[in-house]
Amino acid sequence: MWLTRVISNKPKIDNNKALVFDEKALTTCFCRKARRKEKEGTDSSSSGDSKLYLEATVLERKLPEMDMRILVDLPAGLDYNEWLASHTMALFDHVNLVYGTVSEFCTASICPDMTGPGQKTYLWFDEKGKKTKVAAPQYIDYVMTFIQKTISDENIFPTKYANEFPSSFESIVRKIVRLLFHVVAHLYAAHFKEVVMLGLHSHLNLTFAHLTALHHRFSLIDPKETEILKDLEVALHLSGECAEAAANNNDKLEDTEKSDECRTQSTEDTSGDNKS
Ligand SMILES: [Zn+2]
Repeated sequence: MWLTRVISNKPKIDNNKALVFDEKALTTCFCRKARRKEKEGTDSSSSGDSKLYLEATVLERKLPEMDMRILVDLPAGLDYNEWLASHTMALFDHVNLVYGTVSEFCTASICPDMTGPGQKTYLWFDEKGKKTKVAAPQYIDYVMTFIQKTISDENIFPTKYANEFPSSFESIVRKIVRLLFHVVAHLYAAHFKEVVMLGLHSHLNLTFAHLTALHHRFSLIDPKETEILKDLEVALHLSGECAEAAANNNDKLEDTEKSDECRTQSTEDTSGDNKS
């Protein structure tokens, strides 16, 4: 099982007391923001569902000083496939770790659908290409098992000298990154509260920033798919001018102005699945 090695090290939400306390704290902070939004007459959520991950208090990121675009930029002389492989494997590890910590909250009864933000539901394509509705933990188990199997396959992710990447390598990476995006989308939509309670939101935000930077650099996912977390991209200053503003810490005023410009963003539901 892909989760086994994660579970042994996972942080624990120990008792109900901690849950009640944290929940109270969270409610206070989210309500304050909700009132402010009402006053301003803006709503970041087109579907009306609350987006806890857009709250200012949880927008922190591990390694905030790092410009993710530099992290993913292909170094001169390095093989493109090799570069994609190493980032794909790192992303898989990080998504696996964060999901592993909240997986006990992701059960077939709590998450009967594989949801994303904005009432998005992902359907799984089985081996015959038939769309199937599966519960989130099942979907994610399919995703992680598929990726684990793929990256361990010497014919697809070669590690031995003289073994070459297959011609389909890039499309396989696209599929993996897209499926990881679905898991991340589910974490934000369905389990962000637990992620915050475990203090892992800055890790999740970093993982999302990494995935987004890689996708922006190499156009790995259909933009229609990533639209559902576009508002978070904007809030974390990960896209276009917003990323530049965030990276350019020398000019505080310009940074603020650009950040303000980057605030308004709408989301809409898009179709998405695991099909390649
Ligand atoms: Zn879930």
